[in-house]
Amino acid sequence: MAFVDHDLHIHSYLSPCAGEERYAQTLDRILFYAEDNGLGTVCVTDHFWDESVPGSSGMYEEQTYAHISSALPLPQSRNVRFLFGCEAEMDRYNTIAIAPEHYDRFDFIVIPTNHLHMSGFTCRGDEDAAERVRLWCERLDYVLEQDFPFEIIGIAHLTDTGIMAGKGYWDVLNRIPDEEYIRLFRKAADRGAGIELNFAWLNLPEDEMEVHLRPYRIAKEEGCRFYLGSDAHTPGKFGACYNASVMDTVGLPLYGW
Ligand SMILES: [Zn+2]
Ligand SMILES: [Zn+2]
Repeated sequence: MAFVDHDLHIHSYLSPCAGEERYAQTLDRILFYAEDNGLGTVCVTDHFWDESVPGSSGMYEEQTYAHISSALPLPQSRNVRFLFGCEAEMDRYNTIAIAPEHYDRFDFIVIPTNHLHMSGFTCRGDEDAAERVRLWCERLDYVLEQDFPFEIIGIAHLTDTGIMAGKGYWDVLNRIPDEEYIRLFRKAADRGAGIELNFAWLNLPEDEMEVHLRPYRIAKEEGCRFYLGSDAHTPGKFGACYNASVMDTVGLPLYGW
């Protein structure tokens, strides 16, 4: 059984999308979660749009560096390495919301290539499954073609349900051929980008589980490295996320980060 010792995708109260509940997600509470679950490394990755990158809109107008860096200095403890990161958004024009001169402000940068639930911002909103397949592949490919410091780049929640409403995400992922996954994950492995393990696996029926596992298995075969990210926005989400047996289910090796 693999040992779960980190969580590199966590939101604090500085991310607005969890409503009132988010106010309980203080930095001290995240540190407590890490201590309580024996995690050696955690990273706070609030939603981010760098103010020097044009194109911010809606909630992102508030998600500046000044805003998310108000988390600093992070609380520390003897047992936990608490890192500072961000989830840098990617809009429908493939604008990635972090300026190169600011990469070094962060220990870790999560990029969500598949946030396709924000109609008018990250996508038009009326795309059918076939078009979302193309977007899933092209947006990931685009990120991997950039001149990023890939040793600190994580590709977020690739099988997230936000790809398409309802069970549409299932249809989208099923349509991606093995050959395309192989091409993309070979490139991710070559660049050294981290692939995030994150999906709601509890109580999933076997056929739906397979929709999630197929890309991660291929990523493993192509030599990708992985990290765990709960994407928890509230303390309540942590309880559902932490369970070491997920690694038995996924059967993937984890590399130190
Ligand atoms: Zn996300
Ligand atoms: Zn997130």
